Amino acid sequence: MRNHRMLKPLEWMLGRFSLDMGIDLGTANTLVCVRERGIVLNEPTVVAVKKGTNEVLLDGRAVGLAAKEMLGKTPGNIVAIRPLKNGVIADFEVTEKMLRYFIMKVHEGRQWVKPQVVIAVPSGITAVERRAVINSAERAGARRVYLIDEPLAGGIGIGLPVTEARGSMIVDIGGGTTEVAILSLAGTVASTSLRVAGDEMDEAIINHMRKRYNLLIGEQTAERIKIAIGSAYPLEQELSLEVRGRDALGGLPRRVVVQSEEVRDALLEPVRQIIGAIRETLEGAPPEIAADLVESGIHLVGGGANLRGVDQIVSEETGIPARVADDPMTAVARGTGVFLENLPLYSRVLPTGEDSV
Ligand code: ADP
Ligand code: MG
Repeated sequence: MRNHRMLKPLEWMLGRFSLDMGIDLGTANTLVCVRERGIVLNEPTVVAVKKGTNEVLLDGRAVGLAAKEMLGKTPGNIVAIRPLKNGVIADFEVTEKMLRYFIMKVHEGRQWVKPQVVIAVPSGITAVERRAVINSAERAGARRVYLIDEPLAGGIGIGLPVTEARGSMIVDIGGGTTEVAILSLAGTVASTSLRVAGDEMDEAIINHMRKRYNLLIGEQTAERIKIAIGSAYPLEQELSLEVRGRDALGGLPRRVVVQSEEVRDALLEPVRQIIGAIRETLEGAPPEIAADLVESGIHLVGGGANLRGVDQIVSEETGIPARVADDPMTAVARGTGVFLENLPLYSRVLPTGEDSV
């Protein structure tokens, strides 16, 4: 058996020289939070690789924002991929390289001691996937890895009383998945992980544009439309946007003006599914907890929480007040940061995945 008392001075010393970090490994965006420094990195979870290989391109355009800009626009020999697109790690080798790149980037080329890393993962991932995330992070240079469920990290990040005996509900609408969880006493009372979120909304817009206008658009354009004029609830002032794409019949570039009402109709189905998951989770809550929720409400985080009117439609459909958290896209990352700052306490009371030790 290992003597923990002996380890302490060493851990303490390593801690002084390493940048311990919390990582929100999202399907759309990866954020890194460093103790005492806050969020130091926020980039799309996109990697450019040589076609037909797992070889990550070696210049500065290989990972993150620059790689996202390549999506749908790459020349024949390069492909930009989203290794976590559907909510699970589809490509471990690429994910590991991406993690390594981000860890190195945070250290800005300085000499570094292997950091402790807290990674937020979707609550629905399997034990095998959890192990694989831990292994990837270790091989990417982590000294010790803790996993925390995304909804719990989100709850901590927005300051919910997750360790108290009081139920609270968090809904994280990301790119690939929507995570719905009821938290109490640092645990998850009920949860649902749905593979419908921002990407499905983009897909719905792509389909709408093809059916209604015979116009072909890419994922990036669809996302721009969603952010510019998308909504889940009627707007006080409806919006419109000029969209360019390729004609499905003639093949030539063309433009059309799109209205927010029709985009809302297109988004109806994914929004309906998200509400379905929330209701299902509420129905699984014990009565005492349900009573708490009436008062504490539903807290919306993740990029999808920015969709106009999503709080209104959720409130209306569940009868429970819903509100969008401040800065919803950074909630999970901020939660991993708080976790790091309170590691001795949280690693005892919170259900983290087995760590690497
Ligand atoms: P993940 O945790 O899966 O990486 P994020 O929480 O970073 O996801 O959210 C990314 C999703 O949020 C994307 O689908 C993006 O299009 C969507 N999003 C970002 N801003 C908005 C907005 N203003 N309106 C609607 N959706 C948005
Ligand atoms: Mg997320």
